Amino acid sequence: MAQIRILDQNMINMIAAGEVIERPASVVKELMENSIDAGATKIIVSIEEGGKNLISIADNGCGMDADDLSCAFKSHTTSKIKDVSDLRNISTLGFRGEALASIASISQIKAVSRTKNSSQANCIEIDCGAEADVTPCSADYGTKIDVRNIFYKLPARRRFLKTANTEFSHITEQFTRIALASLRSVDNETLTPANLGLDMTLLHNGRESLRLPAQQTIRRRIADLFSREISENLIETKNSERGLEIFALLGRADTSKINNKFQYIFLNGRFIRDRFISHAIKEAYRGCLEPNRYPVIFLFIKMPAENYDVNVHPAKTEVRFYNSNLVHSQILGAIREKLLSTNLDTEVKLPEPAGRSQQITEAMADFFKKHRPSQDQRHFNFPKTSSAARLDMPPAKTEQFSIDDSQYTQKFLQIHNSFIVTQTHQGFVIIDQHALHERMMYENLCKRIQAGKLESQKLLMPESFELSDAAAEVLKANSQLIEKLGIELVPFGPGTMAIQAFPTLLQKADPLEFISDLIDLLTEKGTNSEPQSMLDEVLNMAACKAAIKAGQSLTNSEMAQLLADKENFESTGRCPHGRPTTIKFSIAELEKQFKRT
Ligand code: ADP
Ligand code: MG
Repeated sequence: MAQIRILDQNMINMIAAGEVIERPASVVKELMENSIDAGATKIIVSIEEGGKNLISIADNGCGMDADDLSCAFKSHTTSKIKDVSDLRNISTLGFRGEALASIASISQIKAVSRTKNSSQANCIEIDCGAEADVTPCSADYGTKIDVRNIFYKLPARRRFLKTANTEFSHITEQFTRIALASLRSVDNETLTPANLGLDMTLLHNGRESLRLPAQQTIRRRIADLFSREISENLIETKNSERGLEIFALLGRADTSKINNKFQYIFLNGRFIRDRFISHAIKEAYRGCLEPNRYPVIFLFIKMPAENYDVNVHPAKTEVRFYNSNLVHSQILGAIREKLLSTNLDTEVKLPEPAGRSQQITEAMADFFKKHRPSQDQRHFNFPKTSSAARLDMPPAKTEQFSIDDSQYTQKFLQIHNSFIVTQTHQGFVIIDQHALHERMMYENLCKRIQAGKLESQKLLMPESFELSDAAAEVLKANSQLIEKLGIELVPFGPGTMAIQAFPTLLQKADPLEFISDLIDLLTEKGTNSEPQSMLDEVLNMAACKAAIKAGQSLTNSEMAQLLADKENFESTGRCPHGRPTTIKFSIAELEKQFKRT
């Protein structure tokens, strides 16, 4: 006897709902997206018990007439696409025509809707796929859909739901994504999100949880959704090339997170997750953040809809770019350029003095009042450094260098042979000598290597080393990279090679130790690593090895030189590993702490 049967439509919808509707937050997402597609400018989301009891979404969009209302909850019914050509050029958030049918198959629904040019509203009720007739009722124009008791006929799925608070936090996340993505509906022409046109309210158990008025600036909205601190510290950048427009708000290192949850990427008004873009962001922040930290970032991308496919996954958070390399390189370039041209130095904000620490501060203030340094105290002037005392900075910069012009007013103090304390016009800074020199080394190496290969110098005596067959293979496989670095290796008998020339910039590093570490790094990375990221890792290592060490005593002129050289670099706020190189203390902050203001 035949075992196979065709499932009835409600079963099909219930199964489809498994893909689209994972939890109450998915219902909120689908219904809010429908409201936006309907041209709403106001949406009220009202939730009870984390959405387990009620999810109610009311909008002032175009509404539906009686016929549309009875059709909307059937499967594969949509007003948004008509033929295949529409599918290639989707400008609405929905298009699959399955959200309402899925939701209606797993919950109790009451939908009321009225179009603008009708004086009468209509209502439909559906209980897990079983629908009643559409009946006339009275209501304002727009649509209100109440979804009750989600999964109540599917106890296994209902049990899977978490506590009301957890479910509500998922809802808040969806609400947040839509609140930010909505700039598409306001300003279709340019990506400057000056005003966000949606008035949005989120209520939980009758209490207002979020209220976002229309016409807020993007920063104001981010402040309302996250915090003022995050919002105020974002760095803004824009870029438009080859049909791809980017507007980004970039978080600084001090607001970075331990995961990438705070990376909000929007493509034409749709929140998306994309591993190419996440990779581009990570690469762009390389050296600006510690490894394993992720920046807060809001990235708005606008591109023609025919350049990507959004019909990849039912939840539509994944897309497929037809030219993902272009997207990757443009995003990477735009963010990187902005970060490198921005001062990312860490400024210290001391805590408000209180309690015991306040007493100590007051005692110190008192001490300083009594022991005020005399006004005519002379500053010790360092002589300009001779070229012999210079560190390994590019010789071309020597002419521009002038200590008198520098922001440092020639007072240096090296502490614990590791940190340099110096006065600036605004206060003082503490510099990590290794981190700063390493950063400058790294920038220098990158610049030189971009221009060709590193300059090298023949060693007076070639330095020989033994190596295994595997190590010899690794060196052979990476011969181009080694040549680019300006390292010359020659065979020197069985199982032995010699270093004949070594890069001038790395003269502070020990050639044998460098080669040994280089072999280890190349072995560990393997052959399938991207050439660019491999080169970057090698340059990081080189910069670290050739830089001044922590614990190394420096003369005054060496310190002066290091700080003068800092002026010649655009971005030295962090070492290549992302740790800060310089921490600033402002005089205003000190005066506050010492109760002078
Ligand atoms: P899709 O959004 O993919 O078209 P849905 O199942 O979400 O599919 O919705 C089906 C149709 O119902 C939509 O195409 C739209 O015409 C109509 N609709 C849904 N929600 C609303 C709303 N809030 N206001 C007006 N029309 C709506
Ligand atoms: Mg929809």
